[in-house]
Amino acid sequence: MSDEGKKPSNGESRQKWQDAVNVKRFMNGRMTPSEAHRMYAIKNPCYVCGAPAVMRIRVLVQLAELMKQAPQFVATIVALNPEGPMIPVIPTTYGPMVKVSDVAACSHCQKDAEHAASQHPSWAIVEIDRGPKDVVQTQVPRG
Ligand SMILES: [Zn+2]
Repeated sequence: MSDEGKKPSNGESRQKWQDAVNVKRFMNGRMTPSEAHRMYAIKNPCYVCGAPAVMRIRVLVQLAELMKQAPQFVATIVALNPEGPMIPVIPTTYGPMVKVSDVAACSHCQKDAEHAASQHPSWAIVEIDRGPKDVVQTQVPRG
């Protein structure tokens, strides 16, 4: 029996996926996936102690909801915006959103930051970005 005529193997794309998650192969071993996430996605240091951050918490509120819940806050943004009398919004599938808060936290302050984020009102959307976990893949011997 020959393998000719069968569907070509998906080995190449599987290898790419393994490169993306394998710590030793990721970016030729120059950095781990979580280090790359910290460098490119978080950037800011911890908001409490200034140590390198491991997570980022963003709080978003729909513009219409924010105007209903906190009109004075919206008026303050309009009055103090250095780019002009308007509200900077992020277009999303749920409509225009206002970024109310954007903080980073280190591994020591992470628990307090998550607790503080859980205290937000129900009409605010809290986005917690912990990034990828560094998983060292083990090799299974073939029988
Ligand atoms: Zn900290």
